[in-house]
Amino acid sequence: MLENSLGHPPVLDARRLYRSFGSTTALNGIDLQIALGQSLAIMGPSGSGKSTLLHALAGIELPDAGSIMLNRPGRAPVDIQGLKDKARTKLRRESFGFVFQSGLLIPELTAEENVAMALMINGVPRNAAIASAGSALAELGLAGMEQRRIGQLSGGQQQRVAIARAQVTGAMVVFADEPTGALDSTTGFEVLDTLLRCTVGAGKSLVMVTHDPNVAARCDRIVQLQDGQLTGDSLHPAHAAKDGAQQ
Ligand code: ADP
Repeated sequence: MLENSLGHPPVLDARRLYRSFGSTTALNGIDLQIALGQSLAIMGPSGSGKSTLLHALAGIELPDAGSIMLNRPGRAPVDIQGLKDKARTKLRRESFGFVFQSGLLIPELTAEENVAMALMINGVPRNAAIASAGSALAELGLAGMEQRRIGQLSGGQQQRVAIARAQVTGAMVVFADEPTGALDSTTGFEVLDTLLRCTVGAGKSLVMVTHDPNVAARCDRIVQLQDGQLTGDSLHPAHAAKDGAQQ
């Protein structure tokens, strides 16, 4: 069992995950425990199962077999596989945040409304949601841009809006799929710094698919996928002492 330095059990504990699409085996018996407060990069060639694994861990698309437990501080463990669709959607909205390459932002809405939306679908009244969104955007250096529509922001600014949206709900785990893939390298590293600060810097976990070794190297831990199986699992030397032994 992978505990973090405070002895918390893995925030995500996936066992024996299998997923097939017709004759293609996308996940072939994955065991993966992710510590609370850890940043994890998932790497591997195209078609190795990275997105399928990310979607399974995030409860977006369930695997055919296996179990995924979510352990949140002060809350009873939840078996994500065992939840009905509606409960799984609620859990995802409350406990997970998402930063994908395209940002998944709604272009017709302003930056502030995009962030506020994440709170409003969790039942937060509009005025309170807008106020929280404004603070979250200001923290990420976007003060003065609240009223801009997404298309009026640069790629890096759009990703900051996505990060604000992912963290404003208090999500314990943020999932990122090539979050810097569409950005030039300088902007990409700025966005990555922001993403790490808002996740591991705040005691949350970050699970990120990336093909970029320089991006992966900024994470505490890197796992390699090949043909739906984990073929590598390494802790960053600088983080090994902090996070304790693996498994
Ligand atoms: P990666 O993210 O590493 O590129 P994926 O998880 O997207 O890999 O895909 C793993 C394998 O599963 C690939 O062979 C892919 O073609 C297949 N696959 C993924 N999603 C689907 C789907 N919805 N329908 C059919 N095959 C799929």
